Amino acid sequence: MQLLWFRRDLRLLDNECVAAAANCGDQVVPFFVVDPWFYQNTQLTPVRINFLFQSLLDLDRNLRVRGSQLYLLEGNSVDIIQRLVDYFSQKDNELRLLFNRDVQVRYGINRDRQIKQFCKDQNVDLFIGTNHYIQQPKINWETWLKDHKSYLKGAIAPAPKRIKTAQLSWESSDLPIVDFPTLFNKYKRFWNLRRIDFRGGETAAHETLRSFADRRFWGYHWRLSQPWLAQKGSTSHLSPHLTFGTISTRIIYQEMQRRLRQLEDEDHPRAVKADFSIKSYCDRLRWHDSFTQRLYYRPDIGEKNYYREYDDWYSSEPLEGEKAELFEAWKEGETGFPIIDASMRQLKTMGWMNFRTRAMCVTFLTINCGVSWHHGAEHFMDCLVDGDIAINHWQWQMQAGITNPFSNSFRIYNPSKNLVDRDPNLQFIRHWVPELRGYSLPEIEQKRYLDRSSYPDEIIDWKQTRKVNGKVISELRAIVRQRLKAEQGEEFEAAQKVKGVIERYMKFKQQEYERSRHQQLELF
Ligand SMILES: Cc1cc2nc3c(=O)[nH]c(=O)nc-3n(C[C@H](O)[C@H](O)[C@H](O)COP(=O)(O)OP(=O)(O)OC[C@H]3O[C@@H](n4cnc5c(N)ncnc54)[C@H](O)[C@@H]3O)c2cc1C
Repeated sequence: MQLLWFRRDLRLLDNECVAAAANCGDQVVPFFVVDPWFYQNTQLTPVRINFLFQSLLDLDRNLRVRGSQLYLLEGNSVDIIQRLVDYFSQKDNELRLLFNRDVQVRYGINRDRQIKQFCKDQNVDLFIGTNHYIQQPKINWETWLKDHKSYLKGAIAPAPKRIKTAQLSWESSDLPIVDFPTLFNKYKRFWNLRRIDFRGGETAAHETLRSFADRRFWGYHWRLSQPWLAQKGSTSHLSPHLTFGTISTRIIYQEMQRRLRQLEDEDHPRAVKADFSIKSYCDRLRWHDSFTQRLYYRPDIGEKNYYREYDDWYSSEPLEGEKAELFEAWKEGETGFPIIDASMRQLKTMGWMNFRTRAMCVTFLTINCGVSWHHGAEHFMDCLVDGDIAINHWQWQMQAGITNPFSNSFRIYNPSKNLVDRDPNLQFIRHWVPELRGYSLPEIEQKRYLDRSSYPDEIIDWKQTRKVNGKVISELRAIVRQRLKAEQGEEFEAAQKVKGVIERYMKFKQQEYERSRHQQLELF
């Protein structure tokens, strides 16, 4: 009997465990554990759980087409696995538990440790497969890029045509089996939503990929930072699918490469531009997997400052006084900075923002408002449909100025400049900040709306806070550099390597950009 445990890998195609379970010819019991631990946080956005529920429903449908089905069990994961094993070992002593390796917070790490120990004690076979690429048991950053590339180009495990699952009657068991209607009824607040921007499930993932590869990817590299275009689909919108594993980076990569070859074979006049866009896009798929790898290697980065020198400035202690007020205004999209507020309101409603606005909201909160990244990162995790600690928490530390101490500068995004550069037609602002509808860009820049609309004045002096707090971060970065240089240890080496990688990447991108522009000019 193959106990096939789905976690954040809710797909049949390119799923190592699904292939292993289906191909061995044995009976398969596909199941998902609805662990109340995940729903205990009352701040959690319904859109993420809704996405999960849709993905489960779709997985169940896809399993049924193949003669199987998804069983849902509700309770603590360790307890459920132990009870499942007890139940099935009375009927079949050849049990195997299969799940894909995942990268997680403490709760998940401890859970998996306990389950592995239990399987060992009970002599239950264990198969641990790959969800997203992770180099293990040891990480070698020297070979990581090459190994990751081989993974992306490697064979995709096909979705099985049939999965053998006997009709199980659970009556004699006291296992907490739930059906979909009961689950959705119990968690109405997650299921009955008026607005859904991201549809979950493997089927939706492939539809989203297809529309991106067919049409939406054109101009990706220059449209990805424009919040209105990004909202409308100039970026792939595949992030929640990658978070819940309804698709793999390998499937996406191979589809985008296929599309590029097709355009080249057709001698398409814009093939050079497509090449640049697709390369930029595939870079991000690699970043996705490298962030996963980093959290696997350093699970503490989800909690602690990467360098201890920041512990006083960036502390997870509860906020009080002015900082608590600034944090509330930021969360609610009431800072008086239109592009920040539009982005934060978009986050609250859609559970999503594009990369640049995420980064901008980080520097505004951490550097300008002086609120620690811990609070902002938690809020993002509560709100994001694609919330993934591996990317989110590391990005927060990066944008807050903590990481890469040997890079010459760190960035503090200017909300006024970004408004002019990234949303000059005010489509994004007018959509999310109705108080400013009817005002032109110059009128907004001159704050003509003050006393005429309910939109608030700026809660901070951006230039002043940039100068004062930016200096604090610069000084902390210098202290980190001094220590690392003095110690000449592993941290120093790692930081130097990162600097080299970033510089090489930026140079390479610039060259590629120049090359693509040159080739374009030659064409005309
Ligand atoms: C503060 C902050 C927090 C973030 N938190 C998350 C998060 O919790 N989950 C998440 O998936 N992304 C996160 N990102 C990265 C990025 O903003 C989103 O992946 C992207 O906006 C998702 O939209 P998309 O799928 O249309 O992206 P696309 O531009 O189409 O990118 C394709 C895929 O590449 C990956 N990707 C894109 N940009 C990055 C990046 N900078 N780093 C790593 N992977 C990337 C994502 O998986 C994404 O789906 C965060 C960025 C910042 C600055």
